[in-house]
Amino acid sequence: MVKQTTILVVEDDMAIREMMAFSLQQEGYSPVKAASAHAALEWLNQGRPDLVIIDWGLPDMTGIELIEVIRRDQLIKAVPIIMLTARGEEADKVKGLETGADDYLTKPASVAELLARIKAHLRRSKGFDDSEILAFEALTLDSQAHQVKVLNNPINLSLTEFKLLKLFLMNPNKLLAREQILNHVWGRNVYIDDRTVDVHILRLRKALKPHNCEKMIQTVRGAGYKLVAP
Ligand code: CA
Repeated sequence: MVKQTTILVVEDDMAIREMMAFSLQQEGYSPVKAASAHAALEWLNQGRPDLVIIDWGLPDMTGIELIEVIRRDQLIKAVPIIMLTARGEEADKVKGLETGADDYLTKPASVAELLARIKAHLRRSKGFDDSEILAFEALTLDSQAHQVKVLNNPINLSLTEFKLLKLFLMNPNKLLAREQILNHVWGRNVYIDDRTVDVHILRLRKALKPHNCEKMIQTVRGAGYKLVAP
């Protein structure tokens, strides 16, 4: 199954929001619509978008403030953000980019231009992701080579356990709730039981056990899991 590319559209103007979501869907993306910053943050608690489009003027927060919140969140801070605004002034553009937007479009933006920018940012962020080597304590994970090592010893993992370990390595010492893990490893639109996570955690621990690293995947009772130093 190919994971859908999820794009979060935060825009309070219903006509523009619906138009963008429709265009994104036509293009094969999976759009998620939010009419306010709070609706966006609520979804971001569980979901992980591949890209976010944020309108400058939102009813409950400015787009700038929302970007600041996103950039502080370990799980999603690297997501590409395109800022949309009705204002054309240079000063606002600079402020948006300084706050952490990757790009900026003035409304009314043409759909063709928006799609072209989205494509460019996705290419960049995915390219970055794939060349990434993650490391924590004795563990290293090379995404491009699809290889995991404990010190210098390669270990064999299935694709799911590989993705699971990658998520942990991206968030060391941070509690990951089962639901978060489900959404990140299996994708948001897939219906899978919470227990599936436990099964794959067991398998991951089993693979780490010969290297005495299984205790690095810690169970936080009633909450989820955490990658910790052994
Ligand atoms: Ca607005």
